[in-house]
Amino acid sequence: MLGVWSLLTLGLLLGQPEPATRPAPAERFGQVDSAPSYPLVMVVPIGKVAPDLTAFIVESVRRRFYFEVQAAPAVSPAAAAWYAPRKRWRAERLLDQLDGLEAGDAFRVIGLTELPISTTKGEIFDWGIAGLGRLPGKSCVLTAYLFRGLKKKDRPHYLRYLENLVLHELGHTLGLDHCPLDRCIMADAKGNALRAARASSNEFCPRCHAKLQRWLRASEVQGDWKSR
Ligand SMILES: [Zn+2]
Ligand SMILES: [Zn+2]
Repeated sequence: MLGVWSLLTLGLLLGQPEPATRPAPAERFGQVDSAPSYPLVMVVPIGKVAPDLTAFIVESVRRRFYFEVQAAPAVSPAAAAWYAPRKRWRAERLLDQLDGLEAGDAFRVIGLTELPISTTKGEIFDWGIAGLGRLPGKSCVLTAYLFRGLKKKDRPHYLRYLENLVLHELGHTLGLDHCPLDRCIMADAKGNALRAARASSNEFCPRCHAKLQRWLRASEVQGDWKSR
């Protein structure tokens, strides 16, 4: 497994050298004057989000993909997404909200929040989740809420888990379904986001990597996969 992966990585490095320059980001959300050289991905804070968390999420996507990644001004969560019985926000309604935003020529839109979110899962109408992404589709949403206990106590793991989460939800929007490998970014959290985040290597496995490459011929997924 490792040998194949090394060859794959080598091939990618040889075949797709780092471009010398990145296009300058557009100045304001929704006012992209000319088409960027790379697909534009917008990170939209929903509600109050720590600025350094938004910056981290932007960087997490930027360092993995040849995407132009920009942070948008924060939006308030849509009133229609509020689920009063559990005092949390319905993720599929937040996706509808993101889909309806004026996002310039954004290729993908990532909603980022620190609010509790939920969706319907099987028989359970309102199930708390860490994130939801269209498969495939334009938008995904993720929350730092489930990891909030680590925010001050264990910053490195807090950020590592959120990196895994944003790549997972973005992966869904790029056509990736769940992966049977626990260490892969695309592993199913199976109702326990914290456990899944701990088990993840924060890398796409070779199979998911190859699938991504088929989707995004101009992108490169970085990192080293080590088989268990
Ligand atoms: Zn998922
Ligand atoms: Zn995988």
